[in-house]
Amino acid sequence: MSAKIIDGKAVAAAVKKELATKVAAMIDADQKAPHLAAMLVGNDPASETYVASKERACREVGMTSSTYRMPANVSEKELLDTIAFLNEDTEVDGFIVQLPLPSHIDEKKVIEAILPAKDVDGFHPMNIGRLQTGLPAYLPATPYGVVELLKRSNISVEGKHCVVLGRSNIVGTPLSMLLSRKNEYGNATVTICHSRTPNLSDFTLQADVLIAAIGQAEFVKAAMVKSDAVVVDVGIHRIEDASNPKGYRIVGDVAYEEVLKKASWITPVPGGVGPMTIVSLLLNTLAACEKKYYI
Ligand code: NDP
Repeated sequence: MSAKIIDGKAVAAAVKKELATKVAAMIDADQKAPHLAAMLVGNDPASETYVASKERACREVGMTSSTYRMPANVSEKELLDTIAFLNEDTEVDGFIVQLPLPSHIDEKKVIEAILPAKDVDGFHPMNIGRLQTGLPAYLPATPYGVVELLKRSNISVEGKHCVVLGRSNIVGTPLSMLLSRKNEYGNATVTICHSRTPNLSDFTLQADVLIAAIGQAEFVKAAMVKSDAVVVDVGIHRIEDASNPKGYRIVGDVAYEEVLKKASWITPVPGGVGPMTIVSLLLNTLAACEKKYYI
C-alpha cells in the first residue's frame, strides 16, 4: 500500500484564491491592498529565492510587495534604522527580515526591534508569548503552514501523538506549541526531539503524526516510522543528481520513496510544506492590514 499524498501545492493554490478574492474586495471598497515588505541583507541564494517567491505570491493575490536590499557589510545601526522606518511607515502593513543575517549583526536584537504588530514572520518574543498563552498572534509561517495544511487536508491531530523532530525557534518549537494548544486544530500530545535525544527511533516509532524538521537530507527512514503514520516533511535540500537534467534534485528530511510505502499520508518535497510557508506569510499580512490582533 502506498500513502496518500498531502498536496501542499493544491492547498496553497486554494488559499491564494481565497486571498485574491478578499484583496479584490478590499480594493473595490477603496481600501488599500495589504503591503508586505522584506529586508534582504547580502545575496544568499536561498534567501534570494524565498524573497522572489514572496514577491511573486504577492502579485498573484493582488497584494503590494516591496524589498529593501542591503549589502552584506551593512552596519547593524543602518539595519535597525530601516526597521524603525518600516515600523512607522503607514503604507507597510507587515514586514520580514530575511534570515540568516551576517554574523556581525545580532539577530535577536533585530527581531526585537520589529514592531510586534508588523511582525508577520511571528518571530518577535511578544508574538511567541502570545502564541504560548493562547492569545491571537502572528504565527511563524512554516508551523502555521503545517497546521493549515493538515486542517485543510482533513487530518486531525486531536488526541494523536505527534512527534516533532527539531526544536528551532522558527519551526520545531512553535510547531510543538501549536499542535498541543487547547483548540480545535491542536489538542495533540506532543513529543519534541532534537540532536541530544538518544535512541530517536524509540520516539519516532510511537508517532501517529511524525514531523521532520531537522535539516538532514533523507534522514527519516521507513524503519523509523510506525505503520500508517502521517508523515510531514519540513526539510528542503538540494542534492547533486547527475541523472537529473538540472544536475540536482530537491529532497526533504524524509527518505520519501521508502516511507511512502509505510505511511498513511505523506507530504512530498517539493510540493508539500514549502508552498504553505509563503501563503501563511500572506495570511499574516492580510491580518496585519486588517489590524486583527493589535489595534
Ligand atoms: P535548524 O538547523 O535551525 O534546526 C534543526 C533542529 O533539528 C535542531 O533542533 C537540531 O537539534 C535538530 N537536529 C539536527 N540533527 C538532528 C538529529 N540527527 N537528530 C535529531 N534532531 C536533530 O533547522 P530549521 O528548523 O530552520 O529547519 C529544519 C529544516 O526545515 C531544514 O531542512 C530547512 O531547510 C527546512 N525549512 C523548510 C521551510 C519550508 O518552508 N518548507 C522553512 C524553514 C525551514 P539541536 O537543537 O539539538 O541542535
